[in-house]
Amino acid sequence: MKPIQEIYPLLHTPRKIVVTMHQKPDPDAMGSSLALAGVLAQMGHEVTVISPTNWPDFLKWMPGSKKVIDFEAAREKGNAALEAAEWVFCLDFNALYRTKHMAAKLSALNCIKILIDHHEQPETAAFDYGVSLTAKSSTSEMVYDFIKASGNDGLISEDVAACLYAGIIGDTGSFRFPATSSNVHEMVADLKRKGLEHSIIHENLYDNFLEDRLRFIGHVLLHRMEIFYEYNAALIAIPKSDLIKFNVRTGDTEGLVNYPLTIQGIRLAGLVIDRDEERKWSFRSKGDVDVNTFARKYFNGGGHFNASGGRSADSLPTTVQLFKKAIKENASQLQ
Ligand code: 5GP
Ligand code: MN
Repeated sequence: MKPIQEIYPLLHTPRKIVVTMHQKPDPDAMGSSLALAGVLAQMGHEVTVISPTNWPDFLKWMPGSKKVIDFEAAREKGNAALEAAEWVFCLDFNALYRTKHMAAKLSALNCIKILIDHHEQPETAAFDYGVSLTAKSSTSEMVYDFIKASGNDGLISEDVAACLYAGIIGDTGSFRFPATSSNVHEMVADLKRKGLEHSIIHENLYDNFLEDRLRFIGHVLLHRMEIFYEYNAALIAIPKSDLIKFNVRTGDTEGLVNYPLTIQGIRLAGLVIDRDEERKWSFRSKGDVDVNTFARKYFNGGGHFNASGGRSADSLPTTVQLFKKAIKENASQLQ
């Protein structure tokens, strides 16, 4: 993977470009992609944004989101855009498998692939150019840096600023996680000067659910959460029947994994959801508890030091047993 700076001079030639992100995009994946797409379009490129899967309703206010192709729902359209692309920007993921059903297509493409990402241990051999900085708060911060460093500061419109801000608050937990650097706050000050209206974005992201979701959270915290005080760990395991009973939709489980960490002393939280094709894990931790390694070692996943994910082909009870065994094995790190 060559340094991303090498593409700056090449940006002046109009091209067909695809911008894509990880499956089930979160505010950072969607926000960074739409912001980059917005800037590239203003430069005269023909840009298509593709998401590997659908995305939560709370991202649908984002400027440009109506034109995003859902690869799972519109494969022909997605394949056509990918085949026509001269460049594909890959945002907010470190390995092609994170694009689910799109991964095989992406890896077979001969075009130039460019990575912008902040996850641990990126698959750099899969990309021609790129930047991977694991200390960065978010891919949105990295896209902001990319826009500035490539001399395109003037193209950060209010719409672009809104997308970048959404990504930043999503991945920093509204400025609370350790990766929230002075650069992040300086960036937000700059976005404010460029017309950002931040308050409405918090409402769009966090005050935009249906009653079912809140009832679901109440049910889950009461009946599906287990605390292991001897390991400073907690688990939430959600069976498929709960998803059906409460009409749980894409995005409704976002943030659920953080609740156990609000209990004094809890340093690791695991959330597992019984999805149709797999059991999907989310992990969050505090301080020096490394959930990137934990997810890689036990659950075919990865991510960041304090936030990661994984998956399992086992049944829900079996994968829950593995979690319990894993926290026992890591008892000393969890103290
Ligand atoms: P979440 O729990 O919000 O789905 O994911 C937490 C973080 O870990 C996100 O940055 C996400 O991109 C990453 N992540 C989630 N699942 C996986 C996975 O299976 N593999 C890898 N490498 N990263 C993941
Ligand atoms: Mn991210």
